[in-house]
Amino acid sequence: MPERSRKKPEYQTKIAKERIEILFSEMENAPDDLARRYIRLAKKIGMRYNVKLGPGKKRKFCKYCFTPFRGAKTRLKNRFLVRECRFCKKAAKMKIKSKV
Ligand SMILES: [Zn+2]
Repeated sequence: MPERSRKKPEYQTKIAKERIEILFSEMENAPDDLARRYIRLAKKIGMRYNVKLGPGKKRKFCKYCFTPFRGAKTRLKNRFLVRECRFCKKAAKMKIKSKV
């Protein structure tokens, strides 16, 4: 069976990236339930077009319920930043880098 390329045309990837950017900027000021919808959508777009969400975006929301981490409790443990999700109470551990 010939191998079909799974790569989408470049213009589509570009649009996908732009849409993700827009969703994330909208998400910043949206109420939680709306923000969750935006993040889900952004992830879906990213998966469909094989586009990464971009630097620092993954740590902006809870990977279990997609609630943004704004105002979440943050602790420092060893060399990890531990954030507790306000919604599902799960803790997210993330490595500390220069950009948080
Ligand atoms: Zn959560």
